[in-house]
Amino acid sequence: MKARLGPDTSNPDFSPFWEGCKEQRLLVPSCRHEHLNWPPRPVCQTCFEWNDKWVEIAGRGSLYSWTVVHKTRLQSHLAETPYVVGVVELRGTPPVRMVGRCEIDPAAAMFGLELVVDFHRVSPDLTLPFWRPANPARASAQAPAQAPAQATP
Ligand SMILES: [Zn+2]
Repeated sequence: MKARLGPDTSNPDFSPFWEGCKEQRLLVPSCRHEHLNWPPRPVCQTCFEWNDKWVEIAGRGSLYSWTVVHKTRLQSHLAETPYVVGVVELRGTPPVRMVGRCEIDPAAAMFGLELVVDFHRVSPDLTLPFWRPANPARASAQAPAQAPAQATP
């Protein structure tokens, strides 16, 4: 049996989320009071009623926590090291925190860094939400305070 990397998109608890990603939408479970619940669960963590629908949330958030992966045993990820895996806090009630790859300079990772979702189609069955800086100029560790003037030829 061939080892499979990636999430099980057929898991019924998560499949609406993965279907939403294919449509470039972030969907999370919600109860009738519009409380957001992540990770998915049958009962709302706030009011203890059933989560009976999936709602779309904005793909904007901020870096809440992170780790920098310097070494990996995954051959498919070796060329990408070092890379950042972060917990991204999305606005909502209560706030949703999702774990995902962050396309940021590891040295520029900081609490509160504004991020936006960027969907990566890995295969016909899998699209992953990655996170990139909302303001790329602020997310570079080596970014000069002011860009030097360039001479025009
Ligand atoms: Zn609720």
